[in-house]
Formats: sequence, structure tokens, C-alpha cells
Amino acid sequence: MVSIKIKDAKLFVLSEISKQYPWLTEKITLNHRKPRLSSKDFKDLSLEHQNFLSNNWYDIFKLTQKEWKVRYIDENYQHQKIDCELCGQKDLDSISVIENIHNGIKLKVGSTCIKKFIDIENNSIEDRKKYEKAKKEKEKILLNKEYCETNVNGILQLINDFNAVSKDKSIILNNLLQNEYNKVNRIIDEDYNQQLTIAKNKINIKKIECVFSFIKDFMNKLNIYLKDCKEKEWGIKPEIAVWCHNSNNTQLIQSLQNFGEINIYTVDKIYEPNYLKNTVLKFKELFELNNIILNSNNSDSFNITLKNRMDISLKVNTVNFIELKKDYLFENNTDINLNKLLNISTIIKSSYFNVVNTLLQSKEFNRLFKIFFEDTGINELAFLNKNDNMIYTVNYKKFIQFVKYFIFENKITNFQINQIINFVKSNAIKYNKTDYAEHLLLYNIKLNKKESVKNYIH
Ligand SMILES: [Zn+2]
Repeated sequence: MVSIKIKDAKLFVLSEISKQYPWLTEKITLNHRKPRLSSKDFKDLSLEHQNFLSNNWYDIFKLTQKEWKVRYIDENYQHQKIDCELCGQKDLDSISVIENIHNGIKLKVGSTCIKKFIDIENNSIEDRKKYEKAKKEKEKILLNKEYCETNVNGILQLINDFNAVSKDKSIILNNLLQNEYNKVNRIIDEDYNQQLTIAKNKINIKKIECVFSFIKDFMNKLNIYLKDCKEKEWGIKPEIAVWCHNSNNTQLIQSLQNFGEINIYTVDKIYEPNYLKNTVLKFKELFELNNIILNSNNSDSFNITLKNRMDISLKVNTVNFIELKKDYLFENNTDINLNKLLNISTIIKSSYFNVVNTLLQSKEFNRLFKIFFEDTGINELAFLNKNDNMIYTVNYKKFIQFVKYFIFENKITNFQINQIINFVKSNAIKYNKTDYAEHLLLYNIKLNKKESVKNYIH
């Protein structure tokens, strides 16, 4: 006569081997809320099956266990409510996670619950002894920690705080503090962690006190440094440190560590939004000295107008500008090279037509071209060539990019006008008037007969 307990039955049903004995699996699971084989179930089996089971269940269950291995044992120190997934026992202290090596099913089970399942891999008596030993060691360390805390009040919290420093993304230590951190870390290892593993009555409290004062000393220096980081003009503020850590730029972090603050080597390598925005504001006086008006500041770019062309707004790339004028921030060089500024700027769309207007004031340009159509929405600018009566259309953005270098000067020279005329001639797509009207129809734009300029500003 064989009866099978719930936890054995459940392990069997979840194992691949059960598929070879469908008659047994059926009997175990049918009419049972939890799988098992009662004496009554056994008697219901055919005589052949009864005989087979009586002689072979031991081996079958041995093979069942061989499908499983212990993944890890968790002592559940947090005392979470965990129930054994084999027998259902509640609020377990010690849990083993076992995994079926064939079907990958994982179960959280009570460690004592499977103690007798010695054929589960890593669940032998020797293995359990090892776990027990490790557990005792952990308990000893906890008791020793408690002992240290009673004698040197605050040491546990202090060590926690100290350990947190290396994981804190809002901190980039300077080299001096980093070296000190490593030194104290070694002291903790040698004079504290090591003491926790010995017998309580052998613990040298003098050593623990010494560790305490080393950490305390470090933490005081750290706090002064962190205060500096927040208050100094080029201090590595917490959000900057977080950004640098997240960007994984080890070279940048190294450089910041070397100097303990932002300097001319690192000022243009940090793209943290708040930092960019604040750095733009540091150029206030430089802008004033160079007749530049700051209109708006969007951190990754900012908008300016130059006092001699108030009708044209420029969008400047912040990072490029910091790169260009970091010599102002750290060496107080107040010159701005207009061409270099224009290289990193784009004229904003609403100023496009004002740029074109500048050209139309040139007699030289007017002699050849008359503006015919312009629309920033479809990025198109069209001139009527008075000589061949054809429409010359150019990419509006590219055209503005080309002429932006000429329009901030007092007067555009004839040489420059000729350059612009050549640009139009060599880049334009040419249409006759009928074809051009048709071309615009593709954009749902109808030209009126007077050929007046249509000015769409988007
Ligand atoms: Zn259990």
C-alpha cells in the first residue's frame, strides 16, 4: 500500500516524469483540491498499477527529485509573509527556491519542508551543513555589530552613511577625498569587518573607536566639500554630478575629479539642462559689451538679436557657444568673432523675410532679381529673373544660411552681392511662370494674378 503526501504529490505533478504515468497523475489530481494519493485512491487503482506503485514509487520519487535543484536559500530576515508552495505552510523563516531543470518551473518552498528530499541537487546533508554554518556566521556578525554599537554609539549608521557615498550619483569627489575614501575603506575592512568575524569577547573596542574617528573625520571633510560644491560658482552641483554619472563619460568625471570643480577643460562638456541655462546667464556682461540682446534662454539654445539689426533674431546653440566663449568665463576675453558666432547660429524663420529685404535694397541685386514668392512653411524662396523672365527658386533655409554672413555688416559690397547672385543662379530650380504656378498648386497654393509677394510666416 502506498499513499503520497501533498508535498510529494505536488512535486511529482510539476515534474516532467509525471507525464510518463498519466494514470497516476490523474488519480493524484482528480477530485483533490491539493494533489495527493490517499489509501482509498490507491485501492481504486488497478491491481497491476497497485503492484507497480508498491514496488517502484520510491524510485519514481527519487527520479522526481533529480529533476530539481536548489537555486538559493533565503533566510528571510525581513520576515515577509511567504507561504510554502509545496505544502502551503505559512510565514516561513527560511526559504529555498528550487527549480526544475527540464521545464524551468520555480518554487518557493520551506527549507525544512524539503529537508528530506536529499536527491534534489544542492539539498544534501553536507550542503545543508554549509548553509547552516553560513547562517550561524551571519548571526554572529549581527550580534557582534550590536556589541560594537553598544560600545561605540552611532558606528553602524556612520558606516552606512560612508558606504552610501560611493553609490551616491550626486557626488563627484575630488582626488584628495577619493584617496581618503579609499584609505578609510581599507581601515573599515581591516579593523572593523575583520573584528566582526571573531568571538565577541575578543573584539578590540579601541580599534572600533579608532575606525569610528577615521570615518567621522572623513565625513566632516566630505560635508565641507559638498557645501562648497553647492555654493562655489563652478562647484560640481548635485544635478551636474548626477548628469555626469548617467552620461557614463569617464573622461569627464576623471577631469572633474582632478580639479574638484568645473573649469575651462570641462565647462563645455556638460549638457545638463539647468547648468546650460545658468551658464548662458553668466554671459550677460559679454553680451552687453558686444551689443547683443538676449531674448530668450531655452538651455540647449538661446535667442539673440544684434543691436545693429534688431529685425533679425538668431538661435544660438548653447554648447557650441560655451565652447566658443569659455575664454570669457575663465580668462575674461570679451571679443566675439561675428563669423564664428554666425557659424553656430541659425536665423529664425520669422526673420527670413527681413534678411531678403536687405538684399532687395541693393541696386545691383534689384537690377537682376525681383522677389516673386516666399514661404517658410514650404521652405521656398522664388525670384523673378528680369533678364530671362524665369522664376528662380531656392531652398529658403540654405539661402538664408548663405547670406547670413553678409547682412550684419554696414553695407553689403558689390562683390558680396555678386556672390549671392551666383549662389541663386547655381542653386536655383527654374520655372516659367505657368509651370511655377502649377508647382505651387502641389502645395495647395494659388498665386494671384498680380504676382505680388505672398508672405507666409510659420
Ligand atoms: Zn512546505
